[in-house]
Amino acid sequence: MQLIFLGPPGAGKGTQAKIFLERAGIVQISTGDILREAVGKGTDLGKQAKSFMDKGELVPDSVVIGIIEQRIQEPDCKKGFVLDGFPRTIEQAKALDGILAKLGIQMDHVVNFEVPDEELVKRLLGRAAQEGRSDDNPESIKNRLQVFKDKTQPLISYYEEKKILRHIVGTGSTTEIADKVKAVVGA
Ligand code: ADP
Repeated sequence: MQLIFLGPPGAGKGTQAKIFLERAGIVQISTGDILREAVGKGTDLGKQAKSFMDKGELVPDSVVIGIIEQRIQEPDCKKGFVLDGFPRTIEQAKALDGILAKLGIQMDHVVNFEVPDEELVKRLLGRAAQEGRSDDNPESIKNRLQVFKDKTQPLISYYEEKKILRHIVGTGSTTEIADKVKAVVGA
């Protein structure tokens, strides 16, 4: 099964992807995690990505598309995967369509997590206090929410037209949300 978890920063995509993959035996591919690891290791990719990430800007499409193209072809993705944090622009979504077509696979469901802005800000500030992620500061959070509205929100209609979009309200307990995910993807 191939899934995309779509939603604003703080919507709980990563948390739900982890829960889901344990149950379904598929892998989570998070561009945010891959980029953070590269920043941590100080690789060329990390050096390229860091300034964008700290400001809450998107890393250039060509960079993340290259990451995904490679990652999806690794053997552990054969059974399926959840994309978490990708695609984030129409350009990325179109590139993904091309990659999938070449591999002869398709996305089964795009799960759109809906969470009110006030709740997102509260969660992200809470995470900042706990995890100390360098982009969880008020300035960057504001920017990431705006970038989501400008660049990522258009993907909702993109996938609606393909008839694979499923909506869930991403509030409530982690278990409640996991049940909603399970219900819309039927797994
Ligand atoms: P959040 O959803 O809380 O913003 P992520 O871990 O998904 O957290 O992303 C953190 C940062 O990594 C983003 O603000 C952006 O700079 C970069 N990033 C992650 N995924 C992408 C992507 N698909 N395209 C461009 N930049 C990305």
